[in-house]
Amino acid sequence: MTTGKAAVFHGPGKPFELREVPLPEVEPDGVLVRVSLANICGSDLHFWRGDAPLRLPADGWIFGHEMTGRVAKLGARVKTDSLGRPLREGDRVAYTYFYPCGRCAVCLAKKPAACPAKIERPRGPSEFPHFHGAFAEYYYLRPGGAIFAVPDTLPDELVSPVNCALAQVIFGLHEAGLRFGDSVVIQGAGGLGVQAAAVAKDMGAATVIVVDQLPGRLELARAFGADHTIDLREMADRKDRVNLVRSLTGGLGADVACDFVGFPQVIPEGIEMLRPGGTYLEIGTISRGAKVELEPAQLVWGAKRIVGVIMYDPWVIPRALDFLVRNRSRWPFDRLLSHRYPLERINEAFSASEWHARDATSITRAALVP
Ligand SMILES: [Zn+2]
Ligand SMILES: [Zn+2]
Repeated sequence: MTTGKAAVFHGPGKPFELREVPLPEVEPDGVLVRVSLANICGSDLHFWRGDAPLRLPADGWIFGHEMTGRVAKLGARVKTDSLGRPLREGDRVAYTYFYPCGRCAVCLAKKPAACPAKIERPRGPSEFPHFHGAFAEYYYLRPGGAIFAVPDTLPDELVSPVNCALAQVIFGLHEAGLRFGDSVVIQGAGGLGVQAAAVAKDMGAATVIVVDQLPGRLELARAFGADHTIDLREMADRKDRVNLVRSLTGGLGADVACDFVGFPQVIPEGIEMLRPGGTYLEIGTISRGAKVELEPAQLVWGAKRIVGVIMYDPWVIPRALDFLVRNRSRWPFDRLLSHRYPLERINEAFSASEWHARDATSITRAALVP
């Protein structure tokens, strides 16, 4: 085998092109992974739709990042995973898809998730190592990427969301300083929001309140550990919602509130739902240029913090896997992936995900099986 199949993206509105791409020569510290499941994440839909300007190489771009797979070929110097456990070809693995540079002030301050150089510009399939993203038969984990053996007990369907969605909410709640006994408000019961409810409970949150406008999503949030849900359509007045959160949190407001909506208009309400000294976690709004009006005096007089998080430090992945092993039967993780498509049907998978995102009566995350 000297080539592998990849779905090449040529820009918004254009179909993916399936192409045979040469397998790279694996560097001594690199790892070639045979992808077993690649999910379509919300940020992939942003690229596909063309929400932000994107400069693509002339020969297109292979993208996608939420995935899992098996080791196809280890570099000569790679004998173990990033926890020092023996790693062999054929082993199932979870891994990062971004590469903190290790040589900047942010990396030096031990904040690899915030490294400004961790994501590279889009590179075309003709450029080494050819397999740059998840929507392909192979993914090339570059030297410096973190890789972890996956417990046998976890099926691929549970592992594939680990390196994006699940790691993202675990790291976000960690950065927000969530503590044992805290109360948490989660705005948005999409894939990230429902997993955040479960993670917050596992981290010891006493009260988890989830806000959304779709009954099906709120039902799923309750199945994932939410103690209370607020339906925006039943409680249309923002003041009533803020008062309800206060009464559910001993009169003060929540210790932590999180935006998993991706629609910045929800942010002022979330900040208002915090107790004095509380922390607002901003993860949802990734689109540059989206704005909202804020009253800074609320932050000052309320001594509140806003924490923005993108990606995560690599220690999160093995802990996310442990979380799944520990809680597999406690919450219905198998409800998070709803559709599977062969790689050849990637165009259909993206259109269907878009349609589901608009309809949004249920959580749907589509997975490609390359
Ligand atoms: Zn993602
Ligand atoms: Zn750096």
